Amino acid sequence: MRVIALTEDVLVCTSAFWQTTCTVVRGPDREAPEAFVIDSPVLPDELEALPGVLEHVGWPCSGLLATHGDWDHLLGRTAFPGSALGCAETTAARLTGSMGDAVRELREFDDEHYVERKGPLQLGQIQALPVPGKVEIGGGELELHPTEGHVPEGMAIAVPWAGVLVVGDYVSPVEIPWISEGGSRSAYVATLGRLLPLIEAAEHIVPGHGVVLDPVRAAAILREDLHYLETGELPLTRRSPAQRKIDAENRGRW
Ligand SMILES: [Zn+2]
Repeated sequence: MRVIALTEDVLVCTSAFWQTTCTVVRGPDREAPEAFVIDSPVLPDELEALPGVLEHVGWPCSGLLATHGDWDHLLGRTAFPGSALGCAETTAARLTGSMGDAVRELREFDDEHYVERKGPLQLGQIQALPVPGKVEIGGGELELHPTEGHVPEGMAIAVPWAGVLVVGDYVSPVEIPWISEGGSRSAYVATLGRLLPLIEAAEHIVPGHGVVLDPVRAAAILREDLHYLETGELPLTRRSPAQRKIDAENRGRW
């Protein structure tokens, strides 16, 4: 797992698997520090290391947030068993309606790659957050923006005092737009339209998979993604067999 200090209030931890990102945000109040952990790394040793990362910087984990309800972003509770998981109302509805899906998909992943974990995934207490909306964190507010299209639910999280935007599974430098079950191309295009001004207003954009982007690069990827969604033409730097497989899956939901 790679850990970088993006700003004095934001750490980004990147999993060795799928370059899945986990963003740790501290509120601006130094007297009463609070930190939220957004999304999660994937591998067991990375999850085990996560509490030590927060201890090292002296930020107490006050809660978990998830950008959307896919299993690879939901593992934070393994690292912080007592913490509640905050997510968009739409995500909460998906998770309570079919909690078993995430548990089953994690088990299938672990079986395929011989990954051993201490126990099955437990999501614990889920807090449904209205989106668009705001969440208070130690003297500041995170802004929540709706993101549908990849899946039928989700949110991007802006950290205004740090100039950071955590987008979930959009504008990834390593993955083409993925229309998963329940997602849609038209909703995806609409979400990209809403994300563009947020990207332009931010200094750092954290995609769900891949390195942190500056606004110019993120906007360029966004334009490539729109072009792909409009024409079906794969972006030049995202044409590997894995991306072609996602493309083939997308065509069933085009
Ligand atoms: Zn993902």
